[in-house]
Amino acid sequence: VEKWFMKHKLLDGKALSNELMSSLSDTVKLRVSLGKSAPCLAIIMVGNVEASRVYVKNKIVACKNSGVHNVLYDLPEQTSTKELLNLIKELNFNESISGIIVQLPLPKWIDTDLVIKAISAYKDVDGFHPYNLGRLIQRIPLLRPCTPYGIIQLLKAYKINLKGKNSVIVGASNIVGRPMAIELLNNGSTVTVCHRFTQNLKELVKQAELLVVAVGKPQFVKGSWLKKDAIVIDVGINRLENGSIVGDVDFSEAVEIAQYITPVPGGVGPMTIAALLQNTLLAQSLLEETL
Ligand code: NAD
Repeated sequence: VEKWFMKHKLLDGKALSNELMSSLSDTVKLRVSLGKSAPCLAIIMVGNVEASRVYVKNKIVACKNSGVHNVLYDLPEQTSTKELLNLIKELNFNESISGIIVQLPLPKWIDTDLVIKAISAYKDVDGFHPYNLGRLIQRIPLLRPCTPYGIIQLLKAYKINLKGKNSVIVGASNIVGRPMAIELLNNGSTVTVCHRFTQNLKELVKQAELLVVAVGKPQFVKGSWLKKDAIVIDVGINRLENGSIVGDVDFSEAVEIAQYITPVPGGVGPMTIAALLQNTLLAQSLLEETL
């Protein structure tokens, strides 16, 4: 009974991601059989952030599983902004590269905004370029930020109706919270965005029919904060001292109250990677239009 109860509450990002990647892999195979090229993702990593290495490794595995080529630029910690910008410029013009990502965070002396803007908007498969965020806001999305895009696909796969839903997002970062708010707004939700200056956080969370949490604090949101039968999306990835990975929501408490909840790991993380590969395929077709 316990297992059945759990299974029917989980939004299984891992399973959906596997499905999406296998259909992506079919598409890539078909393209190749028609004499077109496989998409190719350029991954730039600067310095030695341990978590970044793990994320990059996962992305490379996902590329391999879906037939997307990849090139890794593993640059030393002391790389200058200028060197990084020169590499990006070269990749922008390289016709064999469909998409470019720069793994964040960058060393503190590198101007991250400048780097993001330097990537061609049509190769910006992370969807962080001001052009792509502007298109999302105007409801003409092109390359969409991967984590929110992955979450929307997960919600749609479970036929969760977003129209008129009271949706609350905790966290307002450029890469998760903000684009998530726009995605939900574009899908007809009524959206509230909370952040570190929000005063009545618990009250607002209590009203959420759909809650997305991206704060980067282990088990920050408690079960008692939730509205009964809320849908809970936990974006957080936090490593505890004992080595285990937990989200930003206290899962064991929240699962008792929620209608649906994403597990960590196995929820949002794999969906983010699937969205990255979908974007890379889209970027390849944008590239072909211009050749
Ligand atoms: P961030 O640090 O850039 O932003 C955190 C946000 O939380 C900020 O807007 C801040 O105002 C807000 N916040 C902080 N403390 C708060 C508090 N006490 N009350 C209310 N709001 C508060 O983080 P991020 O890059 O958005 O990432 C958030 C988490 O999501 C991290 O754990 C990160 O590892 C994870 N993440 C996961 C994926 C994935 O694919 N699953 C992708 C990106 C980030």
